[in-house]
Amino acid sequence: MLDADFFHRWMTAAAALVSREADHLTELDSAIGDADHGSNMERGFAAVTAALGKEPPQTPGAVLVLAGRQLISTVGGASGPLYGTLLRRTGKSLGDASAVTPEQLAEALGAGVASVAQLGGAQAGDKTMLDALLPAAEALGTSFEAAKEAAEAGALATVPMQARKGRASYLGERSIGHKDPGAMSSALLVAALAETGAK
Ligand code: ADP
Ligand code: MG
Ligand code: MG
Repeated sequence: MLDADFFHRWMTAAAALVSREADHLTELDSAIGDADHGSNMERGFAAVTAALGKEPPQTPGAVLVLAGRQLISTVGGASGPLYGTLLRRTGKSLGDASAVTPEQLAEALGAGVASVAQLGGAQAGDKTMLDALLPAAEALGTSFEAAKEAAEAGALATVPMQARKGRASYLGERSIGHKDPGAMSSALLVAALAETGAK
């Protein structure tokens, strides 16, 4: 069973990975966006860990809802509301149980990813974070490690895609040939989950 502490550790691991890879995320965003994705994510997850540390929530759902709220309020740009919605919706789907099974998390994440698609109007193949999140949520039914691999493969698969949503879509065909920054940060969040689950 995965308790509130597990989810807290997941968010802490995500913050560490995002911080480590912030320059890489910004580099990807400088190719097809406005070169702020690394700093956006780093600022957002620093706020998440600070808020969780101040008053640690007692349930898995409450950890994710608080984390999502922090991302919405601290990250300007497209990714803040989208990631905020992802975590809030996933958290709400977990309800107020004190611990959840990996299967319940997989189902809740599926609901979270669906609300990202609804909010942003994007679908698979549009070269966004969804290209990592959709396969990851699907594979999470199998294992954390499978989800991590699916997210990484999904992020890599955005390279030949032409962006149809977000800032990168303004580039048209010139968006082809670059990995989507949001797909990479999504893969980092799922990698942090696998890392937490392996401990
Ligand atoms: P901004 O583009 O406002 O500067 P960020 O650079 O932080 O915001 O985030 C960009 C990422 O957000 C993109 O790489 C993409 O993955 C994701 N994104 C943008 N628009 C959408 C959308 N409509 N649906 C899903 N993801 C999106
Ligand atoms: Mg940007
Ligand atoms: Mg921006």
